[in-house]
Amino acid sequence: MTGQLKGRCMCGAVTVAMVPAKPEIHACHCSMCRRWTGSAFLEIDAAPGTLKAEGPVRSFKSSDWAERASCGTCGSPLWYRLTDPKVDFHAVSAGLFEDTGFALTKEIYVDCKPGGFAFAGEHQRMTEQEFLASIGVDVAKE
Ligand SMILES: [Zn+2]
Ligand SMILES: [Zn+2]
Repeated sequence: MTGQLKGRCMCGAVTVAMVPAKPEIHACHCSMCRRWTGSAFLEIDAAPGTLKAEGPVRSFKSSDWAERASCGTCGSPLWYRLTDPKVDFHAVSAGLFEDTGFALTKEIYVDCKPGGFAFAGEHQRMTEQEFLASIGVDVAKE
């Protein structure tokens, strides 16, 4: 198992600690992540039950199934969380931590990415439709 990671927001008012589910960074290019972060949301999934945070965490309900947490003082994005009480899923902003050395292994919503930049390297790239199908959402019915 990978060891615990410790990080903080830009101003330092919020500190976080977690054990990563895998030593991997994932990127989301959906329009909500783009507006939230200014580019793409680069995140590390927390192993269930391991995320701890101290400080002025503010939560925003960004959809019917998810919340986004940010620092109440400086506004730094902290994590994306699924609100279903049966699920413990936190995608934590990779930028809170010093360089973990983790590689980018997956990009999702690549068809929503602005054309002017791209992440280099060989890794999994999924369109919105491919991603939704992978989590069991039937796009044809949307
Ligand atoms: Zn802060
Ligand atoms: Zn997203």
